[in-house]
Amino acid sequence: MKPLKIVMISSECVPFAKTGGLADVVGALPLTLKKLGHEAIVVLPLYSAINREKFKLESCLAPFGVWMGNCQEWCAVYKTDVAGFTAYFIEFHKYFDRFGYYHDAQLNDYTDNAQRFGFLSQAALQLCKALGFAPDIVHAHDWQAAPAMGYLKDWYGGDPVLGKAAGVLTIHNLSYQGVYPADSIPYLGIGWEHYHPDKYESWGRLNLLKGGIVSADMVSTVSPNYARETKTSELGCGLAPYLNNRGDTYWGILNGVDYGQWTPSSDKYLPAVYSAADLKGKAACKKALQEKFHLEQNPEVPIVGVVSRFAAQKGLDQLAEVIEGIVGDMKVQFAILGSGDKSLERFYGDLPRSFGGRIGTWIGYDEGLSHLIEAGSDFFIMPSIFEPCGLNQLYSLKYGTLPIVRATGGLDDSVVQYDEATGLGTGFKYWDATPSAIYFTVGWAVSTWYDRPAHYKAMQQTAMGQDFSWEKSAAVYVKLYQKALRRGD
Ligand code: ADP
Repeated sequence: MKPLKIVMISSECVPFAKTGGLADVVGALPLTLKKLGHEAIVVLPLYSAINREKFKLESCLAPFGVWMGNCQEWCAVYKTDVAGFTAYFIEFHKYFDRFGYYHDAQLNDYTDNAQRFGFLSQAALQLCKALGFAPDIVHAHDWQAAPAMGYLKDWYGGDPVLGKAAGVLTIHNLSYQGVYPADSIPYLGIGWEHYHPDKYESWGRLNLLKGGIVSADMVSTVSPNYARETKTSELGCGLAPYLNNRGDTYWGILNGVDYGQWTPSSDKYLPAVYSAADLKGKAACKKALQEKFHLEQNPEVPIVGVVSRFAAQKGLDQLAEVIEGIVGDMKVQFAILGSGDKSLERFYGDLPRSFGGRIGTWIGYDEGLSHLIEAGSDFFIMPSIFEPCGLNQLYSLKYGTLPIVRATGGLDDSVVQYDEATGLGTGFKYWDATPSAIYFTVGWAVSTWYDRPAHYKAMQQTAMGQDFSWEKSAAVYVKLYQKALRRGD
């Protein structure tokens, strides 16, 4: 098989810029593709929050002119190899020197997001031309890079560098579509002839993701189950017909885990490491977690962990309705880490005052604490309303921390339901998106801990043996790329 050249365009990438799972995927996939013999470069914005010294950014092109639909923008390009692949950064102060990546401190979307990320998409493609990097595949991630799919077809069809490239779009979360006023169309250079309901238009506004879905050679999302769900009106967020239209050119590929970062036997954030064969270190992590979160020091009481964005999708408002009942009725503790929605921050942030020793909360984003919660907890809850893939349940399995999840999206694909008759399974699933389903499923997990400890231990061993490594997923991405190339022929 011929080695492939891939350019990934993304608004986030670990270790440089992250707000969620998108960054984890874009940081891990190029490395694994490299192991499989392919070459992937990544292009992302140079946000002012990115530490240039730490990541050894070097100037690569300056000045660099990017043609938009009605003007040329002058920016600069930096690059680094610290992540194990070449990452290029587009420096453009007007767009990327902001408080947040997508919104201001009040969580209001920046009104020029279409321009900002349309510019990123154009800059990435024109960078390939400037570098003489002729990609086989342009891999766009989410709405922010989706315009590249249309540009590839509508601007660069006969281009000597880009003309043969196939376009692949990966949807990490269909509920974010990049819908903005249409007045940016001349700047974006999309062409009014493409602004109609079967391409870029949704209810009188510009929909960048929709344009990408229609233009890409192949479309994927981050789990097989979410691919099925997004083709229904319930979870299709208005785009189900367009995903259905794609037939077998829309795939679901489960995200992998970067086990270099997430393995309990080598995790640098933990006070003690451990493995399935020797779980002593897990007990030490539990002790440290109880200390850190001011929980009652008691190894006998199970801890349920939460690490999450506080967003409606994550179902934490439903957990909020029953968490007081749970800790009132059951002998169980909670260790909660997250940030986002202000009313949820207040609610969970206030709980330790009333339930000291039983609920500990840390409001904020903290990589180290997220590892400690995965390792020190006995259960990990994800009551998501929908979940394209979800990464924390995959980490939880590896850390021997049994997931309690709503059976949706990638959560359903990756957790095997506990069978009380045999003791088989890797976690506890429920289907109804209701607070009472959460209450009873946590109750089921807690009763398993106390009443069927042999089952808990057996599930823990099975969970720790699961393999969600990137090697498997990346091999499927290569098949996706090959199919995209065949379609372009
Ligand atoms: P999403 O992308 O929808 O937020 P995922 O489960 O795909 O959900 O990915 C979330 C990633 O962000 C995980 O790596 C998780 O550990 C991390 N994360 C979320 N919230 C926090 C937080 N408050 N502190 C540290 N890490 C967090």
